Amino acid sequence: MKTHRFILEPYKGKTTRHNCPSCKEKGCFSRYIDSDKIIEFPAHVGRCNRENNCGYHFTPKQYFEQNPEKAELIRDFSPRSQAVQQQKQVPVSFIDESIVSRSLTRYDQNKLFQFLTSVLETEQTLNLMKKYRVGTANYWPGATIFWQTDSSGKVRTGKIMLYDPSNGRRIKQPHNHISWVHSMVGGNEFNLKQCFFGEHMLNQNKALPIAIVESEKSALIASCYLPEFCWIASGGKHGCFRDENLNVLEGRKIVLFPDLGAFDQWSLKANHMKELGYEVEIFDYLERNASVQQRREGYDIADFLLQVQPKESNLQMMINKNPQLKKLIEHFDLVLDQSSPTVSATQSHI
Ligand SMILES: [Zn+2]
Repeated sequence: MKTHRFILEPYKGKTTRHNCPSCKEKGCFSRYIDSDKIIEFPAHVGRCNRENNCGYHFTPKQYFEQNPEKAELIRDFSPRSQAVQQQKQVPVSFIDESIVSRSLTRYDQNKLFQFLTSVLETEQTLNLMKKYRVGTANYWPGATIFWQTDSSGKVRTGKIMLYDPSNGRRIKQPHNHISWVHSMVGGNEFNLKQCFFGEHMLNQNKALPIAIVESEKSALIASCYLPEFCWIASGGKHGCFRDENLNVLEGRKIVLFPDLGAFDQWSLKANHMKELGYEVEIFDYLERNASVQQRREGYDIADFLLQVQPKESNLQMMINKNPQLKKLIEHFDLVLDQSSPTVSATQSHI
Protein backbone atom coordinates (compact mmCIF):
# COMPACT_ATOMS: atom_id res chain seq x y z
CA MET A 1 0.00 0.00 0.00
CA LYS A 2 1.24 3.47 -0.88
CA THR A 3 1.72 5.63 2.16
CA HIS A 4 2.09 8.97 0.39
CA ARG A 5 -0.50 9.55 -2.22
CA PHE A 6 0.42 13.17 -3.06
CA ILE A 7 4.07 13.44 -3.96
CA LEU A 8 6.40 15.85 -5.68
CA GLU A 9 6.75 14.75 -9.28
CA PRO A 10 9.87 12.60 -9.58
CA TYR A 11 12.59 13.98 -11.84
CA LYS A 12 12.28 12.62 -15.37
CA GLY A 13 14.14 15.25 -17.33
CA LYS A 14 13.67 18.96 -17.86
CA THR A 15 9.96 18.78 -18.62
CA THR A 16 9.28 17.75 -15.03
CA ARG A 17 10.84 20.90 -13.59
CA HIS A 18 9.08 24.22 -14.02
CA ASN A 19 9.45 27.94 -13.45
CA CYS A 20 8.75 28.97 -9.87
CA PRO A 21 5.49 30.97 -9.51
CA SER A 22 7.07 32.97 -6.68
CA CYS A 23 10.72 33.79 -7.52
CA LYS A 24 10.16 33.18 -11.28
CA GLU A 25 13.47 31.28 -11.50
CA LYS A 26 13.55 28.75 -14.33
CA GLY A 27 13.49 24.97 -13.87
CA CYS A 28 13.60 24.96 -10.07
CA PHE A 29 9.98 24.13 -9.30
CA SER A 30 8.51 20.66 -8.69
CA ARG A 31 4.76 20.19 -8.86
CA TYR A 32 2.71 17.86 -6.69
CA ILE A 33 1.03 14.92 -8.38
CA ASP A 34 -1.64 12.45 -7.27
CA SER A 35 -0.28 8.93 -7.55
CA ASP A 36 -3.90 7.71 -7.79
CA LYS A 37 -4.33 10.04 -10.80
CA ILE A 38 -7.67 11.48 -9.67
CA ILE A 39 -6.68 15.00 -8.68
CA GLU A 40 -4.84 17.23 -11.10
CA PHE A 41 -3.30 20.03 -9.08
CA PRO A 42 -3.06 23.51 -10.59
CA ALA A 43 0.43 24.72 -11.55
CA HIS A 44 1.10 26.67 -8.34
CA VAL A 45 0.87 23.61 -6.07
CA GLY A 46 4.46 22.51 -5.54
CA ARG A 47 7.83 23.39 -4.08
CA CYS A 48 10.71 25.61 -5.16
CA ASN A 49 14.11 24.01 -4.65
CA ARG A 50 15.71 27.37 -3.82
CA GLU A 51 14.97 26.83 -0.18
CA ASN A 52 17.03 29.72 1.15
CA ASN A 53 16.44 32.29 -1.57
CA CYS A 54 12.77 31.61 -2.21
CA GLY A 55 11.22 28.99 0.07
CA TYR A 56 7.93 28.83 -1.83
CA HIS A 57 6.02 25.68 -0.89
CA PHE A 58 2.33 25.29 -1.60
CA THR A 59 1.21 21.94 -0.23
CA PRO A 60 -1.67 19.65 -1.25
CA LYS A 61 -3.05 20.21 2.25
CA GLN A 62 -3.30 23.97 1.62
CA TYR A 63 -4.88 23.26 -1.74
CA PHE A 64 -7.55 21.01 -0.22
CA GLU A 65 -8.26 23.59 2.48
CA GLN A 66 -8.98 26.18 -0.19
CA ASN A 67 -10.92 23.75 -2.38
CA PRO A 68 -12.95 21.49 -0.09
CA GLU A 69 -14.99 20.09 -2.99
CA LYS A 70 -11.76 18.47 -4.21
CA ALA A 71 -11.17 17.05 -0.77
CA GLU A 72 -14.64 15.50 -0.90
CA LEU A 73 -13.78 14.11 -4.31
CA ILE A 74 -10.72 12.24 -3.11
CA ARG A 75 -12.62 10.85 -0.17
CA ASP A 76 -15.49 9.50 -2.23
CA PHE A 77 -13.75 8.28 -5.36
CA SER A 78 -10.54 7.05 -3.88
CA PRO A 79 -9.78 3.49 -4.93
CA ARG A 80 -8.90 2.80 -1.32
CA SER A 81 -12.31 1.35 -0.81
CA GLN A 82 -11.69 0.47 2.81
CA ALA A 83 -11.20 4.08 3.72
CA VAL A 84 -14.29 4.97 1.69
CA GLN A 85 -16.39 2.36 3.47
CA GLN A 86 -15.36 3.73 6.82
CA GLN A 87 -16.03 7.24 5.61
CA LYS A 88 -19.59 6.41 4.64
CA GLN A 89 -20.49 5.43 8.18
CA VAL A 90 -19.23 8.67 9.63
CA PRO A 91 -22.10 11.12 10.07
CA VAL A 92 -21.95 14.56 8.51
CA SER A 93 -20.34 17.14 10.80
CA PHE A 94 -21.83 20.54 11.62
CA ILE A 95 -20.55 23.86 12.89
CA ASP A 96 -21.73 24.85 16.35
CA GLU A 97 -24.63 27.32 16.19
CA SER A 98 -23.02 29.57 18.81
CA ILE A 99 -20.07 30.21 16.48
CA VAL A 100 -22.47 31.11 13.71
CA SER A 101 -24.65 33.48 15.71
CA ARG A 102 -21.63 35.27 17.19
CA SER A 103 -20.57 36.17 13.66
CA LEU A 104 -23.90 37.68 12.64
CA THR A 105 -22.93 41.14 13.79
CA ARG A 106 -20.36 43.96 13.30
CA TYR A 107 -21.60 44.65 9.80
CA ASP A 108 -20.23 48.19 9.87
CA GLN A 109 -16.74 46.63 9.68
CA ASN A 110 -17.69 44.08 7.04
CA LYS A 111 -16.22 45.06 3.65
CA LEU A 112 -18.87 43.25 1.65
CA PHE A 113 -21.59 44.93 3.69
CA GLN A 114 -19.93 48.28 3.00
CA PHE A 115 -20.02 47.57 -0.70
CA LEU A 116 -23.61 46.31 -0.70
CA THR A 117 -24.89 49.38 1.13
CA SER A 118 -23.33 51.50 -1.61
CA VAL A 119 -25.61 49.84 -4.16
CA LEU A 120 -28.62 48.78 -2.04
CA GLU A 121 -30.58 50.30 0.83
CA THR A 122 -29.01 49.69 4.26
CA GLU A 123 -32.10 48.04 5.66
CA GLN A 124 -32.39 45.82 2.62
CA THR A 125 -28.75 44.78 3.03
CA LEU A 126 -29.25 43.99 6.72
CA ASN A 127 -32.22 41.83 5.79
CA LEU A 128 -30.08 40.00 3.24
CA MET A 129 -27.39 39.26 5.84
CA LYS A 130 -30.00 37.91 8.20
CA LYS A 131 -31.94 35.92 5.64
CA TYR A 132 -28.92 34.31 4.00
CA ARG A 133 -26.91 34.08 7.24
CA VAL A 134 -23.85 36.06 6.31
CA GLY A 135 -21.42 36.93 9.09
CA THR A 136 -18.34 38.99 9.83
CA ALA A 137 -14.99 37.30 10.52
CA ASN A 138 -11.89 38.47 12.33
CA TYR A 139 -9.69 36.21 10.24
CA TRP A 140 -8.84 39.18 8.03
CA PRO A 141 -10.12 42.58 9.15
CA GLY A 142 -13.58 43.11 7.64
CA ALA A 143 -13.82 39.63 6.11
CA THR A 144 -17.16 38.03 5.31
CA ILE A 145 -18.37 34.53 6.27
CA PHE A 146 -20.92 32.84 4.06
CA TRP A 147 -22.43 30.09 6.20
CA GLN A 148 -23.59 27.04 4.30
CA THR A 149 -26.84 26.27 6.09
CA ASP A 150 -28.59 23.13 4.88
CA SER A 151 -32.29 22.48 4.38
CA SER A 152 -32.67 21.29 7.97
CA GLY A 153 -31.14 24.52 9.26
CA LYS A 154 -27.77 23.02 10.27
CA VAL A 155 -24.51 24.65 9.27
CA ARG A 156 -22.08 22.53 7.21
CA THR A 157 -19.24 25.06 7.04
CA GLY A 158 -18.50 28.74 6.50
CA LYS A 159 -16.52 30.20 3.64
CA ILE A 160 -14.48 33.25 4.58
CA MET A 161 -13.64 35.78 1.91
CA LEU A 162 -12.37 39.32 1.72
CA TYR A 163 -13.80 42.00 -0.57
CA ASP A 164 -12.81 45.41 -1.79
CA PRO A 165 -15.54 47.73 -0.43
CA SER A 166 -15.16 50.15 -3.35
CA ASN A 167 -16.13 47.73 -6.11
CA GLY A 168 -17.28 44.51 -4.41
CA ARG A 169 -14.55 42.44 -6.07
CA ARG A 170 -12.73 39.73 -4.15
CA ILE A 171 -9.22 40.48 -2.96
CA LYS A 172 -6.85 38.05 -4.66
CA GLN A 173 -3.53 39.83 -4.08
CA PRO A 174 -0.99 39.12 -2.71
CA HIS A 175 -2.88 35.86 -2.28
CA ASN A 176 -6.41 34.60 -2.80
CA HIS A 177 -8.26 35.54 0.39
CA ILE A 178 -10.36 32.48 0.97
CA SER A 179 -10.53 30.22 4.00
CA TRP A 180 -12.92 27.79 5.65
CA VAL A 181 -14.34 27.65 9.14
CA HIS A 182 -14.32 23.84 9.31
CA SER A 183 -10.56 23.80 8.70
CA MET A 184 -10.11 26.10 11.73
CA VAL A 185 -12.51 24.64 14.26
CA GLY A 186 -13.39 21.22 12.89
CA GLY A 187 -10.27 19.19 13.65
CA ASN A 188 -9.17 16.15 11.70
CA GLU A 189 -12.36 14.21 12.35
CA PHE A 190 -14.62 16.80 10.75
CA ASN A 191 -16.68 15.14 8.03
CA LEU A 192 -17.47 17.94 5.63
CA LYS A 193 -20.40 17.70 3.24
CA GLN A 194 -20.96 21.00 1.55
CA CYS A 195 -24.40 22.28 0.62
CA PHE A 196 -25.67 25.16 -1.47
CA PHE A 197 -25.32 28.61 0.04
CA GLY A 198 -28.92 29.69 0.78
CA GLU A 199 -30.21 26.10 0.82
CA HIS A 200 -32.07 26.72 4.10
CA MET A 201 -34.40 29.11 2.28
CA LEU A 202 -35.59 26.67 -0.35
CA ASN A 203 -38.50 25.39 1.69
CA GLN A 204 -39.72 28.81 2.76
CA ASN A 205 -41.49 29.34 -0.54
CA LYS A 206 -41.84 26.13 -2.47
CA ALA A 207 -43.65 27.81 -5.36
CA LEU A 208 -40.65 29.90 -6.34
CA PRO A 209 -38.40 28.63 -9.09
CA ILE A 210 -34.77 28.21 -8.00
CA ALA A 211 -31.97 30.24 -9.57
CA ILE A 212 -28.43 28.96 -9.12
CA VAL A 213 -25.36 31.17 -9.49
CA GLU A 214 -21.72 30.50 -8.75
CA SER A 215 -20.97 33.28 -6.28
CA GLU A 216 -22.56 33.82 -2.87
CA LYS A 217 -22.34 37.57 -3.29
CA SER A 218 -24.20 37.36 -6.59
CA ALA A 219 -27.01 35.32 -5.04
CA LEU A 220 -27.50 38.10 -2.48
CA ILE A 221 -27.57 40.84 -5.10
CA ALA A 222 -29.74 39.03 -7.63
CA SER A 223 -32.32 38.20 -4.95
CA CYS A 224 -32.98 41.94 -4.58
CA TYR A 225 -33.49 42.51 -8.27
CA LEU A 226 -35.41 39.38 -9.19
CA PRO A 227 -37.29 38.17 -6.10
CA GLU A 228 -39.35 35.97 -8.44
CA PHE A 229 -36.64 33.37 -7.90
CA CYS A 230 -35.13 31.79 -4.83
CA TRP A 231 -31.42 32.52 -5.40
CA ILE A 232 -28.79 30.10 -4.12
CA ALA A 233 -25.06 29.71 -4.88
CA SER A 234 -23.01 26.66 -5.78
CA GLY A 235 -19.93 28.31 -4.27
CA GLY A 236 -17.72 27.60 -7.28
CA LYS A 237 -17.66 26.57 -10.89
CA HIS A 238 -17.73 22.94 -9.87
CA GLY A 239 -19.18 23.68 -6.46
CA CYS A 240 -22.18 21.91 -5.14
CA PHE A 241 -23.30 19.88 -8.16
CA ARG A 242 -22.77 16.32 -7.08
CA ASP A 243 -25.79 14.08 -7.42
CA GLU A 244 -26.31 13.84 -3.67
CA ASN A 245 -26.35 17.66 -3.38
CA LEU A 246 -29.15 17.95 -5.89
CA ASN A 247 -31.82 16.13 -3.88
CA VAL A 248 -32.92 19.38 -2.27
CA LEU A 249 -33.93 20.69 -5.72
CA GLU A 250 -36.36 17.89 -6.42
CA GLY A 251 -39.73 18.88 -7.83
CA ARG A 252 -38.69 22.50 -8.39
CA LYS A 253 -38.15 24.55 -11.51
CA ILE A 254 -34.46 25.37 -11.76
CA VAL A 255 -32.57 27.94 -13.81
CA LEU A 256 -28.77 27.96 -13.93
CA PHE A 257 -27.10 31.36 -14.34
CA PRO A 258 -23.47 30.59 -15.26
CA ASP A 259 -20.73 33.23 -15.11
CA LEU A 260 -19.38 34.32 -18.44
CA GLY A 261 -16.82 31.72 -19.42
CA ALA A 262 -18.50 28.87 -17.52
CA PHE A 263 -21.42 28.38 -19.88
CA ASP A 264 -20.19 25.17 -21.52
CA GLN A 265 -19.38 23.52 -18.21
CA TRP A 266 -22.74 24.46 -16.76
CA SER A 267 -24.53 23.24 -19.88
CA LEU A 268 -23.03 19.83 -19.21
CA LYS A 269 -24.26 20.02 -15.63
CA ALA A 270 -27.72 21.05 -16.85
CA ASN A 271 -27.83 18.09 -19.24
CA HIS A 272 -26.77 15.74 -16.50
CA MET A 273 -29.45 17.14 -14.20
CA LYS A 274 -32.08 16.65 -16.92
CA GLU A 275 -31.03 13.03 -17.24
CA LEU A 276 -31.58 12.67 -13.52
CA GLY A 277 -35.11 14.03 -13.98
CA TYR A 278 -34.70 17.64 -12.84
CA GLU A 279 -36.61 20.40 -14.57
CA VAL A 280 -33.72 22.68 -15.41
CA GLU A 281 -32.89 25.34 -17.95
CA ILE A 282 -29.86 27.50 -18.47
CA PHE A 283 -29.79 31.27 -18.85
CA ASP A 284 -27.79 31.94 -21.99
CA TYR A 285 -28.55 35.60 -22.52
CA LEU A 286 -25.24 36.82 -21.10
CA GLU A 287 -23.28 34.31 -23.12
CA ARG A 288 -24.97 35.45 -26.33
CA ASN A 289 -24.84 39.18 -25.67
CA ALA A 290 -21.82 40.05 -23.53
CA SER A 291 -19.24 42.56 -24.73
CA VAL A 292 -15.55 41.69 -25.01
CA GLN A 293 -14.89 43.70 -21.87
CA GLN A 294 -17.60 41.90 -19.90
CA ARG A 295 -16.21 38.55 -21.02
CA ARG A 296 -12.71 39.49 -20.01
CA GLU A 297 -13.94 40.41 -16.55
CA GLY A 298 -15.95 37.20 -16.21
CA TYR A 299 -19.24 39.04 -15.62
CA ASP A 300 -22.11 37.27 -13.97
CA ILE A 301 -25.78 38.06 -13.62
CA ALA A 302 -25.19 40.27 -10.57
CA ASP A 303 -22.64 42.49 -12.34
CA PHE A 304 -25.18 42.85 -15.06
CA LEU A 305 -28.06 43.66 -12.72
CA LEU A 306 -25.95 46.14 -10.76
CA GLN A 307 -25.90 48.35 -13.79
CA VAL A 308 -29.37 49.40 -12.65
CA GLN A 309 -30.19 50.63 -9.18
CA PRO A 310 -32.97 48.69 -7.44
CA LYS A 311 -33.58 51.86 -5.44
CA GLU A 312 -35.24 53.11 -8.60
CA SER A 313 -38.18 50.88 -8.16
CA ASN A 314 -39.92 52.00 -11.31
CA LEU A 315 -39.36 49.11 -13.63
CA GLN A 316 -39.84 51.14 -16.78
CA MET A 317 -37.13 53.52 -15.64
CA MET A 318 -34.86 50.59 -14.95
CA ILE A 319 -35.54 49.21 -18.38
CA ASN A 320 -34.85 52.58 -19.98
CA LYS A 321 -31.51 52.67 -18.24
CA ASN A 322 -30.71 49.10 -19.04
CA PRO A 323 -32.51 47.69 -22.07
CA GLN A 324 -30.92 44.31 -21.35
CA LEU A 325 -33.16 43.97 -18.33
CA LYS A 326 -36.14 43.94 -20.67
CA LYS A 327 -34.57 41.06 -22.57
CA LEU A 328 -34.10 39.17 -19.33
CA ILE A 329 -37.73 39.70 -18.43
CA GLU A 330 -38.89 38.65 -21.88
CA HIS A 331 -36.65 35.63 -21.91
CA PHE A 332 -38.16 34.33 -18.73
CA ASP A 333 -41.65 35.37 -19.69
CA LEU A 334 -42.00 37.57 -16.66
CA VAL A 335 -45.04 39.82 -16.87
CA LEU A 336 -45.16 43.36 -15.70
CA ASP A 337 -47.71 43.79 -12.94
CA GLN A 338 -48.99 47.34 -13.47
CA SER A 339 -50.10 47.77 -9.88
CA SER A 340 -46.70 47.00 -8.45
CA PRO A 341 -43.20 48.22 -9.26
CA THR A 342 -41.84 44.69 -9.35
CA VAL A 343 -42.43 41.97 -11.86
CA SER A 344 -44.04 38.62 -11.26
CA ALA A 345 -43.27 35.37 -12.98
CA THR A 346 -45.82 33.49 -14.99
CA GLN A 347 -45.63 29.79 -14.51
CA SER A 348 -45.82 29.01 -18.22
CA HIS A 349 -42.17 29.17 -19.15
CA ILE A 350 -39.98 28.66 -16.14
ZN1 LIG B 1 11.16 30.00 -6.10
